[in-house]
Amino acid sequence: MTIAIETPVPPCAHEPELFEEVAALSAAADEPLAVVSERLAVAHRSCAGCPMLVDCLYRAVVEVDVSGFVACTTEADRASIRRRLGIEVSQATFAPYGTARLGGGPVSHESVMAVRQSYPKDTCHQLAERLGCSTSTVKRHLRRAREQAQQEAAAAPAVDRRTPTVDEVLDAFDALETSQFA
Ligand code: SF4
Repeated sequence: MTIAIETPVPPCAHEPELFEEVAALSAAADEPLAVVSERLAVAHRSCAGCPMLVDCLYRAVVEVDVSGFVACTTEADRASIRRRLGIEVSQATFAPYGTARLGGGPVSHESVMAVRQSYPKDTCHQLAERLGCSTSTVKRHLRRAREQAQQEAAAAPAVDRRTPTVDEVLDAFDALETSQFA
């Protein structure tokens, strides 16, 4: 006997246009409030019925700063939840890592760091080959990044960086005015 196990497809995968529309509407300043509210309510209802809502919300708040409408929240909603929880999440980087450098000018610090992030196991020599620069240039930029990180760590105020629990994230979500949409 064959047992078929159905993998649930989240509503955002079923109707991505709705989620894109809501993300654009909530970012636009000149849309009539009634239109924004109506479409937000529709998207809220979709997410509210999604079996992945809790996991999706937790990850979007605590782990990755994604863009758009996700897990019943706009980007502003998630920023508000993070403020309430006292946490910060760095933005996901979508830079085209590892692309060939054009022209013969000096390689930028950002390019070196992007390629380093994209190929973390590469040696400095391999990174230099990807960038078309010298190994000492790569080493210089990596040293600069280390020194910057050390300076920032030394200057950062001591804060409680405890990772919030799922219940804390849900409580902060419930406190949002917009969480009452669904
Ligand atoms: S809760 Fe997350 S996975 Fe589910 S529909 Fe909303 S955005 Fe998609």
